[in-house]
Amino acid sequence: MVDSQIRARGIKDERVLEALGRVPRHLFVPESLGALAYADEPLPIGEGQTISQPYIVAYMTEALELEGDERVLEIGTGSGYQTAVLAELVSEVWTVEIVESLALRARRTLEGLGYRNIRYKVGDGSLGWPEAAPFDAVVVTAAAARVPDSLQDQLGAGGRMVVPVGTDLQELYLILRENGGLKSKRLLSVRFVPLVKGT
Ligand code: SAH
Repeated sequence: MVDSQIRARGIKDERVLEALGRVPRHLFVPESLGALAYADEPLPIGEGQTISQPYIVAYMTEALELEGDERVLEIGTGSGYQTAVLAELVSEVWTVEIVESLALRARRTLEGLGYRNIRYKVGDGSLGWPEAAPFDAVVVTAAAARVPDSLQDQLGAGGRMVVPVGTDLQELYLILRENGGLKSKRLLSVRFVPLVKGT
């Protein structure tokens, strides 16, 4: 999967490629879909949600330019697959999921694999995780109509955020906090499930 689908499509960061190679993706998809676990496509994980396509996980992770000592906030734990890739690469991952059953299942999978550098929260991720801010990087894996202010506020100096923005037509944005201001750059067209509002 890593060589034929991810390296071949232009992902160059060796640490990201190695991390993808280490995470057993089949443990993050329903057993009945195990045969498709390493195909380059998103798959249903229950509750109307999906596990992102491996190439997109790689692309978003590479865009964060992680070096190893970062604290990263992830919004939309889902299956926990992107969480595992991040946990391979940085010192701390803080992940928020709004659907409790998904959060519990992801946590069980990730703890079973031995990851000890992940903090879990059930709640509305558009509010971020203020008690733990600032973060060096933020990755949002559900699409927002616009970038939530609280997530921008929780991005530390020099921090990087990748976030899909839009409703039907979505674009992935990279947001950088530089010299006290925010810069944003459009990366590519994507398709994610919507970021839903908490109740
Ligand atoms: N990274 C995940 C992607 C899951 S899809 C994976 O690879 O498996 C996006 C996830 O975002 C879903 O699990 C959905 O329940 C969650 N989500 C949607 N709105 C949310 C919100 N406001 N806060 C936190 N999680 C949210």
